Amino acid sequence: ASTRIPLVAGNWKMNFDHLEATYFVQKLAWLLRDARFEYKRCEVALFPAFTALRSVQVLVESEKLNITYGAQSVSVTTQGAFTGDVSADMLTRLGCSYVIVGHSERRKYHPEDDANIVDQVRAVLAADMIPILCVGESYEERRQGIELDFAVSQVRDVTRDLSDEEAAKLIIAYEPVWAIGTGMVATPQSAQEAAKAIRDDLTGSFGAKVGNAVRILYGGSVTSGNAAQLIGEADVDGFLIGGASLDVDELAKIARLT
Ligand code: PEP
Repeated sequence: ASTRIPLVAGNWKMNFDHLEATYFVQKLAWLLRDARFEYKRCEVALFPAFTALRSVQVLVESEKLNITYGAQSVSVTTQGAFTGDVSADMLTRLGCSYVIVGHSERRKYHPEDDANIVDQVRAVLAADMIPILCVGESYEERRQGIELDFAVSQVRDVTRDLSDEEAAKLIIAYEPVWAIGTGMVATPQSAQEAAKAIRDDLTGSFGAKVGNAVRILYGGSVTSGNAAQLIGEADVDGFLIGGASLDVDELAKIARLT
């Protein structure tokens, strides 16, 4: 059996100011106040907007909550004249454990290409955080039947220059773009097929130790109605959740099923 701890990651996108985030975290912690989370048999991570990170940090640290958190993207530079950007070191100092890198919405609305995504991964690792690298095909690639090759090559393009030690720290989120925010969820079989293809390729490139260590999440219209079946698949180690992560009862329910 896998020793990978399942991760339920809530990507809030551009929702919740710091007051709403504070209320959410307090309620989530109350809903998850039991041994399963205390002993970390499942990890729950939140991804607030930059403006809410400090409030989440203060709450998590002062109450010693079993909740981790991170940012939705990061600058590739460390400091200087980059108006509007936030550096990896700034996020580490806010207690962030993770940064989402290469989300399809970032790839679409910002100039984030593979080279930039590689640099983000490096910046996150250098600042002692863990990148959650998002990959996944669009409807067009799925129609052509090349979805597995597409996702695998996206991972390969970003990881090719990493050391084994760096690669072992990664989390990959397989998120077919056609499933994000559409209500169209991948079948458990198809999520497993993609996760396994990605894991097998990582094993091929970095060896079995790395292949076994990397957590692979599924993302795309996950709800409490489909989470249990998806997590039953051997290579699916948790979820990256958008819409459903905005409802605290629903997120807690998914965490309980994971
Ligand atoms: C996402 O944006 O990462 C995502 C999976 O969104 P949703 O759960 O709303 O499909």
